[in-house]
Amino acid sequence: SRAARARTFDGTGRTSDGVHVDLLANVGDPSEAAAAAASGAQGVGLFRTEFGFLGRTEAPGVDEQVAMYRQVLAAFAGRKVVVRTLDAGADKPLPFVTDRDEANPALGVRGLRTAVTHPEVLEDQLTAIARAATAEQADVWVMAPMVSTVDEAEEFVAACARHGLTQAGVMVEVPSAALLAGPILAHATFASIGTNDLTQYTMAADRLLGAVAALSDPWQPAVLALIAATCAGAAQQGRPVGVCGEAAADPALACVLVGLGVASLSMTPRALPDVAAVLAATSSQECRRLAQLALASARAADARAAVRRELPVLA
Ligand code: PEP
Ligand code: MG
Repeated sequence: SRAARARTFDGTGRTSDGVHVDLLANVGDPSEAAAAAASGAQGVGLFRTEFGFLGRTEAPGVDEQVAMYRQVLAAFAGRKVVVRTLDAGADKPLPFVTDRDEANPALGVRGLRTAVTHPEVLEDQLTAIARAATAEQADVWVMAPMVSTVDEAEEFVAACARHGLTQAGVMVEVPSAALLAGPILAHATFASIGTNDLTQYTMAADRLLGAVAALSDPWQPAVLALIAATCAGAAQQGRPVGVCGEAAADPALACVLVGLGVASLSMTPRALPDVAAVLAATSSQECRRLAQLALASARAADARAAVRRELPVLA
């Protein structure tokens, strides 16, 4: 039962044949980090730093940022914490960087694109992350949201290096980044697929609009094909790929993602026990077979049904 699975979660993720899968938490602030650590999460796969600054009219100072980041890192001492630089814009406007007059905010200056209009904001943030990482002796990985070109990835990685941040990655949330994962990961040391936005941009369907919810489905075969392309590009460069969108919290889809080559899954902490339980009951070979079944489907509903039918543990 679900309750029994919840009780037996011990924080480790592995398939039935022992292939390790990092199971991490998505957090937005120090209190969520503390709750995630208490729930058994072994690290943070997505720290949404913009959550601490929503509604601010002025950019946060470096000292204030250091204090906040240190609290999150302290909750996961010695563990991996993936810190995402500010993802401002679209559904998360930050008044100190977001231009309210854009006609299409989801296609505008959001995520890493704000580093062009407001370079000092990214500089201050990287300064603060580096200071917090040194103070806490933490295993900090930094990644940028909304990367869409190789140049953006190269420049972000170089900026991180200037701050001594050597684990510098990109989020894959735009189809162009999925298709160019190989050349992008010649620069970035890891990729994390944001399936919420990758689905939105692949299907051209607003992730918050109920009327297009059927399109906003990460089981859409086109989305799965882009995830497969990301994993193939990353494999060429020997770089790890994670998933930190809602898709990682769907146990059946988690098996498909692992079968496609995804090495870490980051999710809301309450989803960790069920995902861990289904992975523990499924072999890595079975995950690869499920991934092929899903990829070969013509429709999202067919992909979901084909995979769920093969996972008796979900019955
Ligand atoms: C995503 O887009 O899938 C993601 C994890 O980022 P966010 O939900 O914060 O946009
Ligand atoms: Mg996103």
